Amino acid sequence: MRHRVLVAFLLTLIAGPACAGGSPPSVLVSIKPVHSLVAAVMEGVGTPALLIGGGASEHSYALKPSDAHKIATAGIVFWIGPDLETFLATPLANLAADAKVIALGHANGVHRLAARAAGLWTALPKQAAGGRTNPHVWLDPDNAIAMTRAIAAALSQADPARARRYAANAAKEIGRIGALDRRLAAELAPVRTRPYIVFHDAYPYFEAHYHLNAIAAVTVEPERPVGPRRIATLRDAIDAGNALCIFREPQFSPAVIQTLARGTAVRIGVLDPLGADIPAGPDLYPALMSALAGSLVQCLAAPNP
Ligand SMILES: [Zn+2]
Repeated sequence: MRHRVLVAFLLTLIAGPACAGGSPPSVLVSIKPVHSLVAAVMEGVGTPALLIGGGASEHSYALKPSDAHKIATAGIVFWIGPDLETFLATPLANLAADAKVIALGHANGVHRLAARAAGLWTALPKQAAGGRTNPHVWLDPDNAIAMTRAIAAALSQADPARARRYAANAAKEIGRIGALDRRLAAELAPVRTRPYIVFHDAYPYFEAHYHLNAIAAVTVEPERPVGPRRIATLRDAIDAGNALCIFREPQFSPAVIQTLARGTAVRIGVLDPLGADIPAGPDLYPALMSALAGSLVQCLAAPNP
């Protein structure tokens, strides 16, 4: 009898994640690309909640009452950090003491690029050496891999009964990101030197990783109207043939892009750093990165008019 009890006890120990550890932690994620990585690590365990879906900007989201509830009831919150989702800094600071808040933009292994000034760029973005940095870190696949590791570590710490599942999912996701990266590098190679202008400075990590040739952003602060001097500088660059494409974003009004392009040969494309039109979930991250590469190649590879 005693022997049978011992066997039953041992069986519960080795049965693993399916029946161990109670319910998984309730997880909330700020933006779609990070949500995608978290969803991949949580596959088969649960689905993380998402704060900013749809076409809202990552910089100026207005929290709804239902969001306040989501935040208040979360056990773990993943976000990039106060330099990106500024609107979350105060609500997260007021969270219950036992809630975990993980700023993935500052996780181990995530490299940061220095913030760039307005004006025309003549070199690839530089690694940060103190000072302000650009917060759009997820658009470098190496950073996405480091973030995936940090997500698995945080989930395992909060939910040790499922640690092996998180580790296995993370390993699979890291393999998938590696394969995606190799495919995108090959796809983008033919347009590396082609000059283009982006709407806001959201892509330096993509640009640096794939050695692309962005020459300027229409705005450094997407919430502010673009001044006439800046428009004149960009217009001069376009008139001189120094940009083949100018990319608008679904989160912002394209009026200023049309002003810049009017009467010139510059082509207008779309880049979206968040994946507004891509369904949220584990497949969003590869779809988002593929869409960025696809838009760049489609616009920049077209023959000159
Ligand atoms: Zn941004």
